[in-house]
Amino acid sequence: MQLIQFSSDLKQEIQHIKAANQTIGFVPTMGALHEGHLSLVKEAKKHCDVVIVSIYVNPTQFNKKEDLDKYPRALEQDMELLKEYVNIVFNPQSDVEIYGEEIQLKAYDFGKLDEPLEGAFRPGHFRGMANVVSKFFALIQPNKAFFGLKDYQQYVLVKEMVKIDGYDIEVIGCPTVREESGLAMSSRNRRLSTAALDAASIISYTLNYCKIYAKHIPLAQLKETGLHMLKNIMETEYLEFRTADTLEEYDHLSTGDNVFLSYAGVIEGVRLIDNIVFEV
Ligand code: AMP
Repeated sequence: MQLIQFSSDLKQEIQHIKAANQTIGFVPTMGALHEGHLSLVKEAKKHCDVVIVSIYVNPTQFNKKEDLDKYPRALEQDMELLKEYVNIVFNPQSDVEIYGEEIQLKAYDFGKLDEPLEGAFRPGHFRGMANVVSKFFALIQPNKAFFGLKDYQQYVLVKEMVKIDGYDIEVIGCPTVREESGLAMSSRNRRLSTAALDAASIISYTLNYCKIYAKHIPLAQLKETGLHMLKNIMETEYLEFRTADTLEEYDHLSTGDNVFLSYAGVIEGVRLIDNIVFEV
């Protein structure tokens, strides 16, 4: 496994890989890696000759400086976790490697896809995310790129960005990896106490409860019950039932509906998100 810190070095490596007709699988991450990230890496290894992982805490996708500053960083541990599966780790030495001397962000027109949920609660987040992923795609030219369905709205938007920018890249969504308690794995979980880690399993419990009762309880009542279950543990930002393809909010559910049930909330000052996609 090779650690590369400069875009110029990475470009050279990409040239060699392409000249050898090898396929590239790419997994973008912000580091502080866990089994969830590793599941994407393993999937990439199954599908592609060469696996490249980026570890870069992208400043332009954080709308709060405090969140950026507190984001966990653990490069050495990350390298240890990846070494069995990965050919190249790209850990840009500075933001200049990605953005040049001056950060300039392209404005994407995602229609209504980037308006609700994370778009509403983290203004500018998706613009920063789409820009950095597009820059990585241009540099690395992967055949396939692997994203976690834990960030479902992000996955939808990356597929949209690929269309807009005209990349010939297959975007593959991988299932959410969870702790035994049901809590979705996240780098941010590292900032939680043991008690909070335990308590936060109420998120996946509630999502599953809503899924099970979606057929039997009217939507307004289901949502109220869900919010009530979360109430004393999480400071909830949203619990929303949306269409899995266009992300429009449901006002009632019918059999056969493909629902993207999405959650965000804060515990011990740490913001967690989770979702499930299911058919009613
Ligand atoms: P991040 O480092 O949080 O930006 O995540 C990098 C990639 O890993 C994204 O595509 C995430 O959706 C994915 N990911 C994060 N947590 C999980 C998880 N628990 N299960 C599966 N994929 C995940």
